[in-house]
Amino acid sequence: MRTAGSGGAERGARHGEGPAAAGDSVAGSVADSVAGSVATPAIPVFLYHAVMDDPPGWIAEFTVTPKQFAAHLDAVVRSGRAPVTISAVADHLAGRAPLPPRPVLLTFDDGFADLPGPTAEALAGRSLPATAYLTTGAIAPGGRSLLPPAPMMTLAGASALERSGMEIGSHTVTHAQLDTLPGRDLAYELRTSKAVLEDALGHEIRHLAYPHGYNSPRVRAMSARAGYETATAVRHALSSDRDERYRIARLIVRRTHTVADVEGWLAGAGARVAPYRDGPKTIAWRWYRRARAAVRGPEFAG
Ligand SMILES: [Zn+2]
Repeated sequence: MRTAGSGGAERGARHGEGPAAAGDSVAGSVADSVAGSVATPAIPVFLYHAVMDDPPGWIAEFTVTPKQFAAHLDAVVRSGRAPVTISAVADHLAGRAPLPPRPVLLTFDDGFADLPGPTAEALAGRSLPATAYLTTGAIAPGGRSLLPPAPMMTLAGASALERSGMEIGSHTVTHAQLDTLPGRDLAYELRTSKAVLEDALGHEIRHLAYPHGYNSPRVRAMSARAGYETATAVRHALSSDRDERYRIARLIVRRTHTVADVEGWLAGAGARVAPYRDGPKTIAWRWYRRARAAVRGPEFAG
């Protein structure tokens, strides 16, 4: 177990691309979700962070307890949806192989210490595949990241994750807000995290998750150029089989969400269905963060 470096942390940072952190609580209107689910069957892509009883304060809101987690996984099994990893979505979007009917994705960001332990066991015990996006600077020996201190897994544990049924993707090196970085720093975040994971695992890493979900047309283009086939964002929305390859929508699961919330998403309701265009607030929030980063330097994205 190691502790991520602190440096530059913005405690209680807003979480997600939207202008307000509360934006994910059943963000879309009912009308959106009903209209969306008729036009395009929704695919829930859940975003978990740590699964812990006593998480560090800065991430607590975005964690669940092992008991809550078990209840969510049981709801996934009950839903009859087909759990797949991000490669299945990539294969579908590239026209290589169709998705099973009614898929669901379970994703885990950052690489907290519980992931290769009880969390992987809870998933494997129910034969649920999942996708883990790892922040290499927070888990590699001697690495540095903007994540505040927390118990983290180690890079050496990544191959055990794969053996337990998880697909590994990159979550950058330092966990910076990618859409505020100069080109050279952005390329470093995208390429070095990919290379570090590829060295550790001995195969290509094809998928990326943007820290905090923050992205922009330039970030998406550079992710493609760095060799990623897909990238997941946040968007507080349900994904679909027509979603955008470089900003696949995910739903952050918070400690305050109930099993009924999870069941709603599994039923394809309770949130908008992507793809849809960024609203003016999301665009304005990006420009605000970009201007702030130009003054203060890179900031933590939770
Ligand atoms: Zn993250």
